[in-house]
Parts: sequence; C-alpha cells; structure tokens
Amino acid sequence: MNIPIHLAGEKDLHCIGVDPVPQSGLKAKTLSLVDEYRNFARSLAVMLDTCTRCGACAKACHSYLGTGDFYNIPSARAALFRKIHDRYFTLAGKMLGRFVGAAEFDAETTGSWVDYFYQCNICRRCAVYCPFGIDTGEITIAARNILTHLGIAPRFLVNIARNELTTGNNTGILKPVNKQEVHPT
Ligand code: SF4
Ligand code: SF4
Repeated sequence: MNIPIHLAGEKDLHCIGVDPVPQSGLKAKTLSLVDEYRNFARSLAVMLDTCTRCGACAKACHSYLGTGDFYNIPSARAALFRKIHDRYFTLAGKMLGRFVGAAEFDAETTGSWVDYFYQCNICRRCAVYCPFGIDTGEITIAARNILTHLGIAPRFLVNIARNELTTGNNTGILKPVNKQEVHPT
C-alpha cells in the first residue's frame, strides 16, 4: 500500500546542503552509497545475511498489522534493500541473481524504498521477536540515510533540519521571539 509522501523540493534540499542526484546518475550514486554504508556499518551485511525468512517478526510490526501489506512485514521490508545489496555486493547475488532473491536496480527501486522505509517508525520491536535479534530498524535507517543523500526525503523532515540549521530549533522560532518578555495584563 502506497502512502502519499510529500517530498522536499530542490530549494529545500539545498538549504540542508544536499544536491539532488539527477535520474541519470541515480543507480551509480545509490550503489556507491550502499557500498559506503555497508563498510561503515558492518552489522548491516550481517543482518541482511542472517535472516531465515521465518516470519516471526511479522506479528511484532504494528505497521504490518495495521495495513496487512506484505512489504510491511519487517523481513520483506528489509528484502527491498537486501535484493539490491546482494545483487551488487555478494558473490551469490552476482552469479545467481533472482534465484537467490537478488534484483537489478531499476526505476522502481527508490520509489519502493520511500514507500516502505517511511512506513517503519524504527520502533525496533521486530528485533525483540526475531530469534537472531535482527533489527530491521537499522536497515530502515540505512535506506533513509541513502535516500536523503540522493535528495529524496520528506519535505516535513527536511524543513525540520533546515529550521535547526537556520534558527537553532526545530520549530523555526527566531531567538528574539524566545527572548520576548511576557508582560502581565
Ligand atoms: S522497527 Fe520498523 S519494521 Fe520493525 S517493528 Fe518497528 S515499524 Fe515494524
Ligand atoms: S524474525 Fe528475524 S529471521 Fe525471522 S524473518 Fe524476521 S528478521 Fe528474518
């Protein structure tokens, strides 16, 4: 189930120092960011590799229970990231492709990440139910981080970051307003 997400425009992204990646460079930049992230957070590859698709995490996720959408099952959500990771960064994925669940980066990839990694609120309840302690919340953080660097991020969140940078607080209230004295009437 797709949920409407209002994405930040180029002007908003520039305010937080992000240059949106053009469509023509999306695949190369995404793969480079996945590579960077997996080297930075080694636990990511371990979690992607360890999942046995047992499904025990499904009953932990309120997002899945509320929508009934297959891709909101934590392991299915993680698979949206795993299939790209495996296709380009594992031997099995490179050799056997879709037979091991790997898939090519295509026009749907970032759209599916936006849809489903923003339906996870990183509560990390799935990690408690998983027999291996796999934390899909961490995979969500990785995907959102990469999307943001691509220039694909909700306007609401980008505006909060912009407010923090320009006024020092998330609401965008200026310092003089905070300092204003309240006079008794
Ligand atoms: S961290 Fe995300 S996937 Fe895991 S239970 Fe919470 S909302 Fe669901
Ligand atoms: S409970 Fe753990 S091992 Fe089982 S499907 Fe979910 S993430 Fe994978």
